[in-house]
Amino acid sequence: METILNNIQHIQTQINTTCDRLGRDRSEVKLLLATKTVTPERILIALKNGNTLIGENKIQELRDKFEALQEVSHQSHFIGHLQTNKIKDVIKYADCIESVDRLDLARKLQTRLEFEDKEMDVFLQVNTSYEESKFGVAPESALALAKEIASLDRLHLKGLMTIGLFSAETEKVRKCFKLLKKIQMDLSDIGIEAKELSMGMSHDFVTAIEEGATIIRVGTAIFGERIYPDSYYWNEKV
Ligand SMILES: *Cc1c(COP(=O)(O)O)cnc(C)c1O
Repeated sequence: METILNNIQHIQTQINTTCDRLGRDRSEVKLLLATKTVTPERILIALKNGNTLIGENKIQELRDKFEALQEVSHQSHFIGHLQTNKIKDVIKYADCIESVDRLDLARKLQTRLEFEDKEMDVFLQVNTSYEESKFGVAPESALALAKEIASLDRLHLKGLMTIGLFSAETEKVRKCFKLLKKIQMDLSDIGIEAKELSMGMSHDFVTAIEEGATIIRVGTAIFGERIYPDSYYWNEKV
């Protein structure tokens, strides 16, 4: 219990130090707890201590933990690959979908939301690292897709999301974050304001904040190593 809260404290300190150094307002950067594989008991430790934003990768986990987490008010973002046959559940259990990355998914979300007379906040996920193993729309196609999403009245495009390149070379990782920022500015030029930039994880969130992140998604640095490799969550075949 101590560990989780200490880790969060440590990250919050790094967020603050980085923001101060950049002259950014500290409140501009929100910490999302990436809670895949983490039990509700451990997530609740964080939620009961003032954290309000979590992200899940798998619909099944989102569903399984939903009941247990209800005792504390919070926001739940879906940050994993979304299959169209899971749309009903994501609408039921999540407050925002950060991983919208293709038109057929956006249209099917719209249709279901119309049917339920609901609305949903979404982010456009962009594959800024061009790695085949990662999901997300290609950067070249991001503007066109964002325009389509903006025309769907049940979806509210709130931001952009990306997973940076996995590399120890900071400058290569930084390029991914710069690209997401550029797409955000290009969108703004055509009148689409996607205000949030969800980028940066345990190993690269400081770089992401330097490049304009407003949401960082941190798992390992808070909850410890996971037993599954990330490919388990990022690969369509599983
Ligand atoms: C797991 C995950 C994170 C957090 O990764 P860590 O390296 O554990 O901080 C962030 N974003 C997405 C999409 C993830 O799947």
